[in-house]
Amino acid sequence: MDLRRIPFFDYRPMYEQHREEIKAAIDRVLNSGQLILGPEVQAFEEEFAAYVGVSGAVGVNSGTDALTLALRALEIGTGDDVITVANVGVPTVAAIRAAGATPRFVDIRSDTLLMDPSALEDVAGERTRCILPVHLYGQPVDMDSVLTFASKRCLPVVEDCAQAHGARVHGKHVGSLGTIGCFSFYPTKNLGAFGDGGMCVTDDPALAKRIRSQRMYGFAADGHAHVEGLNTRLDEIQASILRVHLRHLDATIEKRQALAQRYLSGLNRLLYRHPDGSPNAVHAYHLFVVEASDRPRVCSALESEDIGYGIHYPEAVHEMEAYRFLGYQRGDLPASELSAARVVSLPLHPGLHMDAVDRVVEVLNRLAR
Ligand SMILES: *Cc1c(COP(=O)(O)O)cnc(C)c1O
Repeated sequence: MDLRRIPFFDYRPMYEQHREEIKAAIDRVLNSGQLILGPEVQAFEEEFAAYVGVSGAVGVNSGTDALTLALRALEIGTGDDVITVANVGVPTVAAIRAAGATPRFVDIRSDTLLMDPSALEDVAGERTRCILPVHLYGQPVDMDSVLTFASKRCLPVVEDCAQAHGARVHGKHVGSLGTIGCFSFYPTKNLGAFGDGGMCVTDDPALAKRIRSQRMYGFAADGHAHVEGLNTRLDEIQASILRVHLRHLDATIEKRQALAQRYLSGLNRLLYRHPDGSPNAVHAYHLFVVEASDRPRVCSALESEDIGYGIHYPEAVHEMEAYRFLGYQRGDLPASELSAARVVSLPLHPGLHMDAVDRVVEVLNRLAR
């Protein structure tokens, strides 16, 4: 193994650490005779709901599907607009489209790189049916302002928490602040499966019931479809693995925060701007992102040192070919467009050593000279 190589992400150190627990969990499922929607999914839903601080949770197949089902449960679809941000990669927008609705983009704040609630007023129109803030990079959106705006307009709020398991505002977990919270358990996320998975959380039992029915063909308990549904289930093996990872989630987030602090104290912050935090919020550090004005130079320095990095994301969604039909143009969302040209994500995962962070910092700060 090349000790100089620093991968951007690696789940194997975590597996190494909890191998026996995970093998026992998988073995338990395979011996149980039930692979789909059994006791592991139910237990994980209860444990995750308790962790987030809500009454109900429904496991689904992905974060994207969680967002789609959340919108469908709110009866948002064709002819309805959903307001979100464009600097989030595709899945948030794909989910809005899969529900049949139309995304409307609000720009981000250039200091936090998150939804700018003060711009909602200008974007909201007659067809607006929902606000969909994204807690990007693990950093909570200014939810006080979003919720104030939404309640004034009587709009539901669907939180995209795919990058923010463990992030909090006023001590409350993201996902418990809006109408429905949507999580992804894609392997790289703060709470990752060894495959795909997702979850909707809500305090509204009627919404939870609707999502539960829609995740499996629209079936009710009587086995008849009373509404149109999809097939998007969390499976027993992934749920059993996620139950193990959930027990260690707070410890891994503390590790993420410690690694982030190491970056923050080491990096030349004039060269590498780190997004500011929102008020009263705890950052769960899914990603450690900096903005660099000369990103190509930064990337080639990292590459030549065998240091992995990510770009989240290289193009704002409104500029992507698939979404040209929405009618946006370059210049419509200047802060989102500028950040797409500048952001770079540095290695940060619970299996990473402090020494690795120090080496990344040294390589980056060397470029200042
Ligand atoms: C990962 C992600 C999703 C989608 O989750 P999947 O499980 O990959 O479908 C949605 N929104 C954001 C912000 C994400 O990072």
